[in-house]
Order: sequence, then C-alpha cells, then structure tokens
Amino acid sequence: KTFEELGLHQDLLKGLYDLGFSKPSKIQERALPLLLANPPQNMIGQSQSGTGKTAAFVLTMLSRIDFSKNKTQALCLAPSRELARQIMSVVVAMGKFTPVQTEYAIRDNLPKGATRITAHVVVGTPGKMIDLLKKKIIDPSEVKVFVLDEADNMLDQDGLGEQTLRVKNLLPRASPVQIILFSATFPDHVRMFASKFAPSANKIEL
Ligand code: AMP
Repeated sequence: KTFEELGLHQDLLKGLYDLGFSKPSKIQERALPLLLANPPQNMIGQSQSGTGKTAAFVLTMLSRIDFSKNKTQALCLAPSRELARQIMSVVVAMGKFTPVQTEYAIRDNLPKGATRITAHVVVGTPGKMIDLLKKKIIDPSEVKVFVLDEADNMLDQDGLGEQTLRVKNLLPRASPVQIILFSATFPDHVRMFASKFAPSANKIEL
C-alpha cells in the first residue's frame, strides 16, 4: 500500500514526501486504515520505537482537524518534555503544508499572561495539561483525538496514571473522543487499565 491509497489528504502527502517518506512502514500500513476509519475507533497499538508509530498517530491527528476552526482539536500526552518536543517536531514537519497551529503544554513554556490557547494540536505532559484545562486556557469542547505515547508509562497507576485519567475526565463527554494508545510494551498491570481507558479499542501488535 502507498500513502495515497491510505486516503491521506494531499497536504499531508506533500509533507510526507518532503520528509523523504516514500511508503508507509508496517505499523503505519496496518494502523492507519483503522485510525482513519469513520466513525473513529479507539486503538491500542503495541510497537517498538523506530517502527514509525509517531507518524501514525500524528497523521491521524492532522487528518481529523478542521482547519477552518481556530479551536483545539487534538491533544497528545507524553511522559517527558523531551518526548513532547520530539512529537511536536513530527507534527510540525508533517503539517508543513497545512495551516496547523501548535502549542506545548509543558512547564515553563507558556508566555506569561496567556489566557487562551487556540492551537489545533497541543502536545505536553499530564500535569501541565491538567493545569491548562482547569484554568480554561485550553478549551476541550472540540477535541476529537486524544493520544498517549509511551502509554505504559502514562497509564502506570504508581506513576502518571492518575494524572492521565484526570486529563481524560476533563475532556467532553457529549461528543466521542478517539483515544489512541501507543507503547512498546503493555505490562500486565497496565493492560486492563488500558482497555478501560480506550474502550472497544482495535488492538494491533507488531
Ligand atoms: P518512531 O517509531 O515514531 O520513533 O519513528 C522512527 C523513525 O522512522 C523516525 O526517525 C521517522 O522519521 C522514521 N519514519 C517513520 N515512518 C517512516 C516512513 N514511512 N518512511 C521512512 N521513514 C519513516
């Protein structure tokens, strides 16, 4: 399969070719048809880093944004600021030929006095994301996609699990949000929580 055959928007294809990606990786070929299906379905994806999972969820976020609205429509959480920055660089690169606006939800990043974030995509760590949602600096009413990278860390109940759940509980309940979890491993103690966190998810393993 090619990226065209996966039904990606022209502007995203341009971004991919600009990056030198000529064809989908194995995980992208398997995950993208499920991730881009309508109505949206949750996903629990297990694959090692280096397999191209970041592109899979970034393309999904970018595909679901209505760029005519200056509203936050995709949230992505990672366990560290460093990983949030890496994910953001992929969002920016793949969105190069789209009008995507992005913002970080990481400590010390926001300009002082910021009262409203309208970026389409917000990438960050859970503590800061909770803070911005509670202060209503991020309006989650139009969020359509919620991604957890390194989901094993994000859902660990001895670690970030509680905060990650709080973010999820601050998202709209009226309209469904597509929940996407990716991780290299899903240890037994997070597996059940992951299935509850992303109900009825498509599960793929590479
Ligand atoms: P990840 O698994 O998301 O950490 O990505 C691993 C590496 O593969 C990154 O350096 C990407 O730039 C690269 N990559 C991802 N998808 C593709 C693709 N379809 N073709 C070529 N390189 C890719």
